[in-house]
Amino acid sequence: MSAHGKAKKWRAGVLGATGMVGQRLVRMLSGHPWFELTGVAASERSMGKTYAEAVRWHLEGPIPDVARGLVVKDLEPNLECDFVFSALDSSVAGEAETQFARAGYPVVSNSKNHRMDADVPLLIPEVNAGHINCIPVQQKNRNYDSGFMVTNPNCSTAGLVLVLKPLADAFGLEKLFVVTMQAVSGAGYPGVPSMDAMGNVIPFISGEEEKMEAEPQKLLGKWDGHRFIDAGLGISAHCNRVPVVDGHLESVSVRLKKTATIDEVREALRNFEVSEELAVLPTAVKHPVVVLDDDDRPQPRKDANTGHGMAAVVGRVRECPLLDVKLTLLSHNLVRGAAGAALLNAELLAARGFLKSRQVAGAPAVEEVSL
Ligand code: NAP
Repeated sequence: MSAHGKAKKWRAGVLGATGMVGQRLVRMLSGHPWFELTGVAASERSMGKTYAEAVRWHLEGPIPDVARGLVVKDLEPNLECDFVFSALDSSVAGEAETQFARAGYPVVSNSKNHRMDADVPLLIPEVNAGHINCIPVQQKNRNYDSGFMVTNPNCSTAGLVLVLKPLADAFGLEKLFVVTMQAVSGAGYPGVPSMDAMGNVIPFISGEEEKMEAEPQKLLGKWDGHRFIDAGLGISAHCNRVPVVDGHLESVSVRLKKTATIDEVREALRNFEVSEELAVLPTAVKHPVVVLDDDDRPQPRKDANTGHGMAAVVGRVRECPLLDVKLTLLSHNLVRGAAGAALLNAELLAARGFLKSRQVAGAPAVEEVSL
C-alpha cells in the first residue's frame, strides 16, 4: 500500500476495550484515517452489554459515537474485523492473543505475555522497524496462515528506548542506570488503592524492573533473519510508583561507547527525526524526542501530552560523575507507552502490507478511503 494511494479502511477490533489502555485505543481509533473500530471484547462482566453500558469511561470528552452501541463480545476469535489490538489483562492476554493469531487475525498487543517470544517482534517503529521482518518466520514456526502477533514494550521501557536510540546510533551504548517515577494509570483501573498512593511513594512495581532490564536488549538488538540478537547492554532499573495520574518520569545515567560532549548528546537527541516512511503514519511525530532547556522540566502535568502524547521529553542533560551522561525523561504511559504505541505499530503493519481485509459472514463492506 502506498501511504498516498487509494487503500481500504481496515476494520479494527479491541480486546480489553473497557480498560485504561482499551479506552485510549477506542478514542484514538475514532476518526482514524486508516482504521475503523468495528468490534470490542472484554471480560464476562462486560460481555453482552453495549460498550457505553459496560465501560467506566475515564477520559475527557464523551465516549466516541462509533463505540457507544457496539456490543461487547467475549474472547472467542470471531470478531468482525480485519485485525485486533489487545489491551487485555495479562492473566488472559497470552492465550487469547495466540487464539486470535491462530484464527487468522493480526494481533497488535500491549500485553507482556508474548513480548520476549523468540519469534514475536517487540516493536517501536522509530527504533527497530526492521524487526517486523520476523513475522513470516513466526507464521511458519507456528503454522499461522494470515494471523500473527506483534507487541509494544512496557510503558516505562517505551520512553527510555526512544531516547536511547539516537544515543546508540551516534555514540554506542555500554550500560545504563535508570530510576523511574511511574504514574498510577500504569497499573490499570482501579489499580493502586488511593490509601497506598496518595502522599506516598511505593518503591516496588511487580515485574517492572525485570521488564526494563530485558526489553531494551531486544528493542535495540538486531533481527538477523532467523533470530533476535540482544544489544548486550548493562542495565540496572529501579521502579517506583508515585502519586501522578499520567506520565512516567525517569532519571537515567548512561555510559557511552564513544566520548561525546554534553552539547553533542543534546544535538543527537534534538536531531532525531523519523524516516519519510514513518513520517506519513497518522500517529507518528516527526521528532519523537523533544529536548527542553529549563532546569525544572520535564514534568508529568506540563509535558506528558507533548506531541499528542507520542513524544518522549528530555531535560537536564548533564555530565554524570559515575557514568558519562545523565538526563531526565518523561513519556505518556498510556499513549507512547501503550495505545499510541500499538496504533503506530498497526500503521506500520498497514503501510508495509501486513494487514489484509478478512471476510467475516455478515460483515459490512470495507469502506474505500483516500490516504
Ligand atoms: P485494565 O484497566 O485493568 O483493563 C484490563 C482489560 O482486560 C479490561 O478491558 C478487562 O475487561 C479485560 N479483562 C480482564 N480480565 C479479563 C478476562 N478474564 N477475560 C476477558 N477480558 C478481561 O488494564 P490496562 O491498564 O488497560 O492494561 C491492559 C494491558 O496493557 C495489560 O496487559 C497491561 O499490562 C498493558 N499495559 C498497560 C499500560 C498502562 O500504562 N496502563 C501500559 C502498557 C501496557 P472488563 O472491563 O470487562 O473487566
